[in-house]
Amino acid sequence: MSDTSMHGLTEKTDVVIIGGGLVGLACAHYLAREGVECAVIERGELNRDGSGTNAGSFHIQLREPEIRYSDEVLPEFVPMKVEAGRMWSQIEDELGCDLGLKVKGGFLIGETAEDLELARKLVDSERKYGLHAEVLSPSEVKDLSPGISSHISGATYDAAEGSANTLLVGPAYARIAEANGARIHTRTTVTGIAPKVSGGFAIQTDQGRIDCSRVLNCAGPWAARLTRMVGWDVPIGGRIIQVNVSDRRERALDQLVGHIRGGLTVKQTTYGTFMIGGGWPAELCPRTGQPRVSRESVIGNTGMAMRLLPDLANVTIVRTWLGINAHSLDRDGNRLQMFGELPGVPGYYILSGGTLFTMGPLFARLAAELLAGRKLSFPVSIHHPERFPISRIS
Ligand SMILES: Cc1cc2nc3c(=O)[nH]c(=O)nc-3n(C[C@H](O)[C@H](O)[C@H](O)COP(=O)(O)OP(=O)(O)OC[C@H]3O[C@@H](n4cnc5c(N)ncnc54)[C@H](O)[C@@H]3O)c2cc1C
Repeated sequence: MSDTSMHGLTEKTDVVIIGGGLVGLACAHYLAREGVECAVIERGELNRDGSGTNAGSFHIQLREPEIRYSDEVLPEFVPMKVEAGRMWSQIEDELGCDLGLKVKGGFLIGETAEDLELARKLVDSERKYGLHAEVLSPSEVKDLSPGISSHISGATYDAAEGSANTLLVGPAYARIAEANGARIHTRTTVTGIAPKVSGGFAIQTDQGRIDCSRVLNCAGPWAARLTRMVGWDVPIGGRIIQVNVSDRRERALDQLVGHIRGGLTVKQTTYGTFMIGGGWPAELCPRTGQPRVSRESVIGNTGMAMRLLPDLANVTIVRTWLGINAHSLDRDGNRLQMFGELPGVPGYYILSGGTLFTMGPLFARLAAELLAGRKLSFPVSIHHPERFPISRIS
């Protein structure tokens, strides 16, 4: 890895990947594996934003609001989740190192009769498209995970769900990508992108210029800034959310525990700590305008966790941190990742959106297939930029 702030940047490559989060680094790995020359440009250090601050769960089951996606979306969306789960189950073998991987299944718990009805609908919908989750009764849930509260009405369960250590996955991709010839430049900010008349792009950075044939924008919540550089507004924004972690405890919870209505994920990591998240928002400090931990969110989030896992009342939350998560809504309001070539800018690709810890490895593999000119192993038409309300900047 090179910190170009020390010696400047003068380089030519086939693909410039903008962003050194999990997605950009996984793209570098899969592109290098395809024999495609590439360079990652990261403005800070690797894996520091959403990729290093997320909760590390892989969510394979449909969740709120995905349950309400249309029949146009689900036939592509669900099989990709199944494949993402398969990739995670093998990721330590693929990358050849310990990633804190835990694949012990996941519950989405219901507390009311309506929740149970929703669980049944969700599983029916998943099964239609090849995801074989099941609905469990409260006693079946307790047989698998005795610490879960007795008051629940049931749960969905999928054996492919689990978690990994977010601090390890991105760097593991980076190491292998570099070993296979990818170049990685940190502390280098992309400040301009100029399509060249002869084809390809001149990428301007604060450390010099790099010429390339193609661009892959993996800048997470900042991706829209980088599409504006080539004249497109895309609906990608960022939300600051928080995650709580407890002190270490004896092993008590194997599965990933979520709520069927959303707002909760709990897991016990391979180190014994409990990680509690679910997308609860941070708040802005009224004095500085900077984001800070919201006590209200900590209380709401941990309260929900204790309702489903009463023994959590005995653990101590030792840290709450914030991270910025990209979100993008397609023209029908479905929260989908955006992936594909920008219209009218041949050679400029974007890959950004939410839940890209779960889906990042698969999308990165597909991006490499696309840029290597191969047939994609999964259809991705629902993610194409033209399905989103994008607009030309006049
Ligand atoms: C608190 C939290 C919890 C989450 N929990 C989960 C979870 O449990 N499961 C799940 O699937 N997902 C989860 N997510 C979402 C997940 O973290 C993200 O979808 C994923 O990490 C996105 O990775 P990325 O590489 O696309 O983006 P990022 O990690 O945001 O990386 C983008 C990179 O682009 C760089 N960049 C931006 N602009 C420029 C520029 N001009 N020049 C150079 N570099 C630039 C940034 O510095 C950054 O490093 C969570 C997110 C957060 C914040």
